[in-house]
Amino acid sequence: MNLSTVLLKPGEADRIISGHPWVYSSSILRLTAPVEDGHVVQVKDHRQRLLGVGFYNSRSKIAVRLLDRDRVEINSDFFRRRFTAAIEHRRRYLPNATSYRLINAESDLLSGLIVDKYGDVLVLQTSSLGMDQRKPLIVDILRELLNPVAILERNDMAGRKFEGLPECNSVLYGEAPTETAIQLNGLEFTADLAEGHKTGMYLDQQVNYAAVAEFAKGAVVLDCFSFLGGFALHAARAGARHVHGIDQSEAAVAAATRLAIRNGIADRVQFETANVFDWLKSKTSTGPNERLVPVYDVIILDPPSFTRNRASVEDALRGYKEIHLRALKLIKPGGILATFCCSHHVDRQLFEEVILSAAYDTQKLLRRVASYTQSPDHPVIPAIPETEYLKGYAYEVLRTA
Ligand code: SAH
Repeated sequence: MNLSTVLLKPGEADRIISGHPWVYSSSILRLTAPVEDGHVVQVKDHRQRLLGVGFYNSRSKIAVRLLDRDRVEINSDFFRRRFTAAIEHRRRYLPNATSYRLINAESDLLSGLIVDKYGDVLVLQTSSLGMDQRKPLIVDILRELLNPVAILERNDMAGRKFEGLPECNSVLYGEAPTETAIQLNGLEFTADLAEGHKTGMYLDQQVNYAAVAEFAKGAVVLDCFSFLGGFALHAARAGARHVHGIDQSEAAVAAATRLAIRNGIADRVQFETANVFDWLKSKTSTGPNERLVPVYDVIILDPPSFTRNRASVEDALRGYKEIHLRALKLIKPGGILATFCCSHHVDRQLFEEVILSAAYDTQKLLRRVASYTQSPDHPVIPAIPETEYLKGYAYEVLRTA
């Protein structure tokens, strides 16, 4: 195996030795021989110690995405080994699930590759040039190990441009289903794999749907940013007295309503198309002599990421504070606020600070009764901070002013 070598500047190896697979172009001292974009290189520190092998791309700020510490060949055996380990991880930590993220890029030691499993259908995303070039090989190994009925490519992410890749969606194997029926915790969902969010729907809350639903028995529940009703439908099945879901997307509300019928719980759950900010504002505005009467036992807040970069964190925090302030006013004493933040740039501590500042302003005392993270099919490797993004808490509202 004759590989070109990427030599790093002094001081640039530590992060990589600790397990982070990205080599930034600014860390590179020089290349020992010219290399084509998408090809495999070996990376060494300035003292010529081997750090690993990975895909090279001169057009990306992440010039090398390391795949292995040893000088292994990146061939079908390599993918078979990595995919088998990923499947094993899901069997171990989500033994009853039939739909989940099968491969989660860096957290499965496969930077640049995501594969989601929706029942018998696989949906893949390649966000690095090296992975993108190897799609045929990846499809072959996935077919060999999982025997899916179809494999789709959902490569319509804007981030591909940073690798010089175009946006494209296609069917890589089999026939594309228009809608795929899947089970999450025994409830039926339908995912629009060609058009829906991300690769069709959000799989990262699978474990939390069931956990939050444990608070729902006999409760009046509000699910804000409900999308297909993940939290709402689980709460209704768990015995909620009534569940109200709100999402600004008409299509999502229509789909969630169909799912409530399909799961036989339409008598207990209802979805409304509205902007959550406006809706909460209208429910919490009082006239001069009016007093607000809280009506909910459980409120769930699972908004989209309000920030895509560090620069907009301030604005995002204002948004998070606003919805918490208003939600807290609507929760009965002894009720539960279950709240999530999927922005990588707002960490667990900062998120709780925002919640507490909303509690202070509304004169509520919160008792934390649960902490949540992303489901185990989206594993977190602490040495790679980018693998952790979803955090959530449940609080009991102890005191109301
Ligand atoms: N809880 C959902 C995921 C929510 S994703 C689940 O578990 O599947 C975020 C959702 O918020 C999207 O469906 C989007 O349509 C909706 N959304 C974004 N901004 C909104 C707003 N201001 N008001 C209401 N819904 C909004």
